[in-house]
Amino acid sequence: MSETAKNLQDSHGANKKTETLPDAVLWHMVYEKLQEHVPQQFFFAFFEHLKVENYDGKTLRLSGQNPQIVEHIKKRYLKLLTDLASQAAEQPVEVELTSSGKPQRPPSLVNQERNYPQTIHLNPNYTFERFIKGPSNEHAYSAAKGVAERPGEFHNPLYIYGGVGLGKTHLMMAIGNEINKTKPWLKVQYTPAESFQSDLVEAVRNGLHAHFKARYRNVDVFLFDDIQFIGQRAEYTQEEIYHTFNYLFQNKKQIVISSDRPPQQLSKLHDRLQSRFHSGLVIDIKPPNLETRLAILQARSEEMKLKISFDVLRYLASRFTGQVRTLEAALVKLQFYSEHEKRPIDLQMAKLALRDLPQEDSGPQVTIDEILRVVARTFQVNEEDIKGASRVENVALARHVCMYLARQILPSLSLAQIAQAFGRSDHTTVLHAEKKVKELADRDDAFRVQLQELRAELQF
Ligand code: ADP
Ligand code: MG
Repeated sequence: MSETAKNLQDSHGANKKTETLPDAVLWHMVYEKLQEHVPQQFFFAFFEHLKVENYDGKTLRLSGQNPQIVEHIKKRYLKLLTDLASQAAEQPVEVELTSSGKPQRPPSLVNQERNYPQTIHLNPNYTFERFIKGPSNEHAYSAAKGVAERPGEFHNPLYIYGGVGLGKTHLMMAIGNEINKTKPWLKVQYTPAESFQSDLVEAVRNGLHAHFKARYRNVDVFLFDDIQFIGQRAEYTQEEIYHTFNYLFQNKKQIVISSDRPPQQLSKLHDRLQSRFHSGLVIDIKPPNLETRLAILQARSEEMKLKISFDVLRYLASRFTGQVRTLEAALVKLQFYSEHEKRPIDLQMAKLALRDLPQEDSGPQVTIDEILRVVARTFQVNEEDIKGASRVENVALARHVCMYLARQILPSLSLAQIAQAFGRSDHTTVLHAEKKVKELADRDDAFRVQLQELRAELQF
């Protein structure tokens, strides 16, 4: 802030509440803040020639020469201007923009920026309060909460992965919403990987690479959603992600990444990037168990003010076992049905209304890789060894258990598929493994309990 503005502000600081800031001072404060939010070339092109007309304590009136620029500012920046002016004045301020000049051709920068994607806003409903915890997601919840409380300090980067519709985006946005509320001075940037990529392409096409960099590096908390969408051939994007993360990381900025798979399965993603993920916290979300599904349904139906009996909720919770999104969809559908038919929801209506929703729309949530991972961890052996030729007793047992669990949990897979997944060509190996495991479980109580726990861990 310039010296004059500081002096002016100081002389008014003492009784700011009762006295109105002079218009020039208010505009100066807004102008300074604005530079932090608007990339430089746009900032100078659009805001330098704005003039402050007056400020009456309620409305800040600004004017510009070029009507197209004024229109553009109104469309794109009015909310930001209003926010900044209100912050500066410490009270609600409206901003009005008028233009004095004749219509002219829009400057090319206006077109450039128009093509440039806008920031994606956080969904205000995605908060920690609205997130229902259960054994399937409580670790992810705590990690996210930790990040929101102390961004950049630990769990950096935080990598959350799990199937579709299990609450990854919800948790990420909850981090953003919470930080915006408790630490409004930090800049939060939420970006789905796909928009990062299209943004980059657009920026390069328009010669705005520097703008792109400024946009993604000038942040304190970077929420990067669905990184698996960055294709393996998108080397340029991968390179850019690498540099962006590196920059943020070196500057102790918080990075949160979501994905539908663990980092090691982002096959072609930069090796250097992968080791970076592993230096932080990698955590998974699983499909909610029955109890959690019931709790989610209860919370949602209360929010929707839906009169619905526990029987019906239990029916829904046992029928839809995959995504949380489907549970919500079922409630919306029931609400519609009940309003349409003008009668309360009962079990019969639920069965009828939801008959065309797929039983289990997300397919098997557990994958071979997950079985491999959990078993390897439990038996403290290497995943690679399980798939390899080792005959070491513990490794062979782990391999048998993997095959046994795959048979139990993934009935849609053929013997040959299971054999292949564990590096075997002969499908009778699987039958042999299954038999061995069953025999051992019959003999050995501790082993039987271990098997049960493995199953529970994989399926809930
Ligand atoms: P993902 O990003 O993992 O695909 P979303 O975060 O988009 O999933 O979640 C899908 C829907 O389910 C959202 O409406 C979200 O609010 C809701 N949801 C998911 N998990 C929970 C939970 N544990 N508690 C409450 N709502 C949830
Ligand atoms: Mg998502």
